Amino acid sequence: MTHTNYNIKHLNTFALDCEVEKLIEINSEKDLFLINSNPDSLNKRNIILGLGSNSIFVNDYFDGTILLVKNKGIEIIEEDSETVVIEAYSGEDWDELVNFTCDKSWWGIENLAAVPSSVGAAIVQNIGAYGQEIKDSFISCTTYNPRTNQWKEYNNEECKFDYRYSIFKYQKDIEIIWKIRLKLSKIPKINTSYSALKEKIQNENLNITSSKEMCELVTQIRNSKLPDPKVLPNAGSFFKNPVISHEQFNTLQARYPNIASFKSTQGVKIAAGWLIEQAGWKGKKVGNVGMHEKQALVMVNYGGAKGEEILNLANEIEDSIKNKFNINLEKEVHIIL
Ligand SMILES: Cc1cc2nc3c(=O)[nH]c(=O)nc-3n(C[C@H](O)[C@H](O)[C@H](O)COP(=O)(O)OP(=O)(O)OC[C@H]3O[C@@H](n4cnc5c(N)ncnc54)[C@H](O)[C@@H]3O)c2cc1C
Repeated sequence: MTHTNYNIKHLNTFALDCEVEKLIEINSEKDLFLINSNPDSLNKRNIILGLGSNSIFVNDYFDGTILLVKNKGIEIIEEDSETVVIEAYSGEDWDELVNFTCDKSWWGIENLAAVPSSVGAAIVQNIGAYGQEIKDSFISCTTYNPRTNQWKEYNNEECKFDYRYSIFKYQKDIEIIWKIRLKLSKIPKINTSYSALKEKIQNENLNITSSKEMCELVTQIRNSKLPDPKVLPNAGSFFKNPVISHEQFNTLQARYPNIASFKSTQGVKIAAGWLIEQAGWKGKKVGNVGMHEKQALVMVNYGGAKGEEILNLANEIEDSIKNKFNINLEKEVHIIL
C-alpha cells in the first residue's frame, strides 16, 4: 500500500510530527517487485523504516520515500539435540521473537528482551544489552535492493559487526534486510557477564534456570529503568558510549576516581550517561526536549519537540563533553535531515 503526504508521528518513537512525500508498506516479496517494476516508487532520497525507534526525523517534511518493512514469519531451518537455526523475517517484532525463542527454552538472545526493534533493524546497529549482542547468535541475512532487483546473502563476517555497527548502518543505497538466520542453543547458557545483572541475581538470590526467566528478569529491569516511549517519547540511548585510549583513561581516572567505564577491545569504553550527568545535563529540560531525569543518556520529547531543538541540545551536549573531558560523543540514533 502506498500513501502520499503521510504523517509518520505514530511510526517513530520520538513522536516527531513529520509528513513524508511517499510511504510504501512492504509486506511481501510481491510488494518488493512492484517497487522495482515501477520507477516512480523510489525517490532521490529513500529511507527504510522498521519500528522507528532509532530514527529521528528532524524536519516537518521529508521529500522522499519511506519503505516501511512489515514482512512477517518465523521458521525453524535446522535442529539437532543441542542447537536450532531459525529464520525470521525483518518486519517481525524483535521482542516477540525473543519471547518466542524463550518459550521454547532456547538460549542466545534472552538478554536482548524488550529492546524495541524490528528484526531487520536489529542487525543494522548490532543491538546489544545486558552482555549480549545479536552478532553472537547471527548466522546470515538475505537482502534485496529494489533499485537493482538484486538479492544478496551476507554471513556474520561480511556484516563487519562492531559496537552498535554493521555495514548496513550508514548505507548509501537501499538494501533492505529481508530475513535473518540465528543459531540458538538448547543447552542452558546463562549470560551474567553484565555486572549489574549478575549483582541483581546474587543480591536478590534469584534462581534463573530458564531463558524465559532471564527474558522476564531483563524485561522487568528495563521497564523499571527506561522511559516508555508511549508515555514519554524517546529513541533510547541518544549517544554511543565513547571508547578512549588507556592513557587518556588513566589521566581522567586520576581526576574523576568514580568514572564509569567498561573493558573494550580497542581501549576503555566510558559510560556516555555518566559523562552527560557529570556535565550537568541529567534531568535538564530545554524547550520541549531534555535528558531524562533517571537516564541521562536518553533524550526525551516532552511534547511538540522540533528537530531544531533536538539537534541544538545534542550539539550543546557534545560541545560540553568535549570541553570538560576532551571526549567526542557520537550519536547512536539515525538523524534524518
Ligand atoms: C526505549 C528504547 C530502548 C532502547 N534500548 C536499546 C538497547 O538496549 N540496545 C540497543 O542496541 N538499542 C536500543 N534502542 C535502540 C533501538 O531499539 C534499536 O536501534 C533498534 O534496532 C531500532 O529498531 P527499529 O525497527 O525501530 O529501527 P528504525 O528506527 O526503524 O531504523 C533504524 C535504522 O535501521 C534501518 N533499517 C530499519 N529496518 C531495516 C531493514 N529491514 N533493512 C535495512 N535497514 C533497515 C533504518 O533505515 C535506520 O537507519 C532502544 C530504543 C528505545 C526507544
